[in-house]
Amino acid sequence: MLNPTIAWTPGTLVRYHGSITTLHDTYRAHPCTCLNCDDPVFGTARFRLTDGNDVTVLDCVRATSITETPEPGDRLITLTDGHRITTSNQSGTDLYDEVFLHPGLDADWDHPEDTAELFLSGDPELAKGRLFLDVPPADVRALIDEHGGAVEVDAETRQQQLA
Ligand SMILES: [Zn+2]
Repeated sequence: MLNPTIAWTPGTLVRYHGSITTLHDTYRAHPCTCLNCDDPVFGTARFRLTDGNDVTVLDCVRATSITETPEPGDRLITLTDGHRITTSNQSGTDLYDEVFLHPGLDADWDHPEDTAELFLSGDPELAKGRLFLDVPPADVRALIDEHGGAVEVDAETRQQQLA
């Protein structure tokens, strides 16, 4: 699920698996702004889901009804402190197939690593980075958060990612 206690960017890609089964699909999550769904007891953050045309499909969605899902294809993320992350998702699962932390960036993850591929790239600079496999999107988001956030992905890039 999309954990709202970790800073997240409105527009984060999620898979909806809530009670309205006919709407099970992948959407972009935004804060719900209906002003009617604040839970006075649990303070539960709710979400508004939009489709590829930025049309709202569902309001007031609970965090437990959505799972953060990897951005499709390859994506380079530049952090506000200058570090860089490349994510890759070719398999269509809920995990990134590969997450490359460019040299200088580190994470205390225990996900499996592929050091051979970095060595075989023949680029000594690349070999100083770390290539993790099967990484949940929430871990990437937490790492981005630890480094002060990411430089905004421009709308054109996002549109290409949706296409
Ligand atoms: Zn609402």
